[in-house]
Amino acid sequence: MSVRERDGILVSIVKEYYARTELLLPEDFRLREFAMQPFGSTTYVRHLSFNSLSELKRVVLERVPKHLYVSSARYRDPSYPDMAMKGWLGSDLVFDIDADHLPQCEEMVKEYRICKRCGEIADTNSDSCPRCGSKDFIELSYIPFKCVDNAKEELLKLLDALENELGFREWRIAFSGHRGFHVVVPLRGSDALIDGEMRRELVSYLKLEGVDVGSMLPVERKRRGRSIITLPPHLRSFGYRRRVAQQLVSLLSDECKPILELKLSEYERLRKCAEEIGSVIHEAVRRAAIYVDEKVTMDISRLIRIPKSINGKSGWLCIPLSVNEVQDFEISEETVSPIPNHELVVKLVVSIPRMDIAGFVVEGVKGEVLKLPSSVALYLAFKELAKVINVKR
Ligand SMILES: [Zn+2]
Repeated sequence: MSVRERDGILVSIVKEYYARTELLLPEDFRLREFAMQPFGSTTYVRHLSFNSLSELKRVVLERVPKHLYVSSARYRDPSYPDMAMKGWLGSDLVFDIDADHLPQCEEMVKEYRICKRCGEIADTNSDSCPRCGSKDFIELSYIPFKCVDNAKEELLKLLDALENELGFREWRIAFSGHRGFHVVVPLRGSDALIDGEMRRELVSYLKLEGVDVGSMLPVERKRRGRSIITLPPHLRSFGYRRRVAQQLVSLLSDECKPILELKLSEYERLRKCAEEIGSVIHEAVRRAAIYVDEKVTMDISRLIRIPKSINGKSGWLCIPLSVNEVQDFEISEETVSPIPNHELVVKLVVSIPRMDIAGFVVEGVKGEVLKLPSSVALYLAFKELAKVINVKR
């Protein structure tokens, strides 16, 4: 049986979706490299370039990609396989926030090894299946979907820092289609030529690495016979000090909060609050740090998932979002499914642990047939835990 036949219904759902969808591309897409991973293939087709949207659509419908990417870089000739021959013209600035890499979510990530032969759910310490001894596993990593809300908080912090600390005015935001968000800041001219190391330093700044916490504490000194107290971060500070002050708002008592607005001038109260600020400043800095994936930002030839394409890790849409849409964004059948409000009948290929997928709790044993909302069914099918056997409208 060919791969196409085995994935038959899945491939036709994806193909039908792309037939009626306009992908969202950067205006200068002719200067960018495209890459895709077709269904049933473990390798990527890279160094593609397109002169028109219709040309891209034709290839997408022909190859039916499981993953579809465009480069953050612009090239003189994006179709050359060799980087030097491509002629690099500069790259946008890319940020990736992934829920499973956030400190507050890392401990909630659950990793499983599910036996392909008998369906047994084992943990990642098992080299072979505890029930049948097989070494053929599906690796599954699961995080509670509320962790995506943490990623959203992180995204809002990042957007605020990009605008108010780094002075950027323009960006493209997208839900990745799995459990995180992408932000692409278009860079032009010489700005686009900054190297990986400079991009890494930007990440280090956002993460507040090496910040001198002591310098943020109010310290009393005598100068020319007068007593002076240095100010802690406040809401009119510049740079990351403002970001730290925003976190202090929820950490300081009502008595000391006015300091953040610079409304407190009496030395006695500032002295009194100095100790309180000292007791919470480390926590404020920790909360103010923005956890973006350093590897992604540093990479000047990064491939970025194309907004409105389907994420092959989940079967969900990569969704472009405006700043105003971020706050209310939630993973649901309506938002993430390429065929919302359809039900799919699936047969479980292996047993699955209890999981909350897009707000729907599911679990089951190998061979079980389930009728599920499309977002849940596609998630299981793209993770190769289930096979779609029928579509109900
Ligand atoms: Zn087994």
